[in-house]
Amino acid sequence: MRRPLVAGNWKMHGTRQSVDRLLDELCREDWPEQVDLMIAPPALYIERCLSALASTPLRLAGQTSAWQAEPGALTGEISPAQLRDAGCEYVLVGHSERRSLFAETDESICRKFAAALACGLRPVLCVGETREQRDAGATAEVVGSQLQAVLDVFGVGGLAQGVIAYEPVWAIGTGLTASPDQAQDVHAMVRARLALLDDEQAQAVQIVYGGSVKADNAEELFAMPDIDGGLVGGASLNAEEFGAIARAA
Ligand code: 13P
Repeated sequence: MRRPLVAGNWKMHGTRQSVDRLLDELCREDWPEQVDLMIAPPALYIERCLSALASTPLRLAGQTSAWQAEPGALTGEISPAQLRDAGCEYVLVGHSERRSLFAETDESICRKFAAALACGLRPVLCVGETREQRDAGATAEVVGSQLQAVLDVFGVGGLAQGVIAYEPVWAIGTGLTASPDQAQDVHAMVRARLALLDDEQAQAVQIVYGGSVKADNAEELFAMPDIDGGLVGGASLNAEEFGAIARAA
């Protein structure tokens, strides 16, 4: 069976002082053994997190990375090879904030996915529809085409080397969580689409939900058959709450 993954995306939060405090608290939490655990801190704090969390099962991720693994003239970027070198095992790819605020496209996301895989990182491919798209009944089409862009290049085998995160844009940072049924519908649709290509890979791939996951809604979300854990934003900045979410998986 699939192991759940509970991941925390700290986004652009933290100072050295607040990060050290959060790391201390994370070290004191009880982490479940049957769950993969990961946090994506701001890149500046990855080394700090790596050493502080060495005795915990929490693994590290970059929040984004460049589309090439090789060193080069890309001012301001961090390559997936550098993330790997710094101790990361995962990287988020195509988060909706990257798509909407930093003009990332399916094409650049595909290149980032490829570069991450080439460096031995597990890319966490984020997909999801906006409120308008959901209201227009276009959720399956939007999520399907975000997935298809990566499937066209890597096939289901390549995609399954990563993780899929379904993050409806309207649920991110809004307190409006998708209901367990709404999320399950999309997760099941994603898995069914992959199963048409390769059922074994489709059953194995982790599909996590993100969008206002909290300690008090995690359990019912994670109980759904195709929801394999969560990608947690705001609530991951509180160690106690993040610990409770992890234990709900
Ligand atoms: P929130 O949990 O704050 O809604 O953020 C979700 C998210 O974007 C995780 O990547």
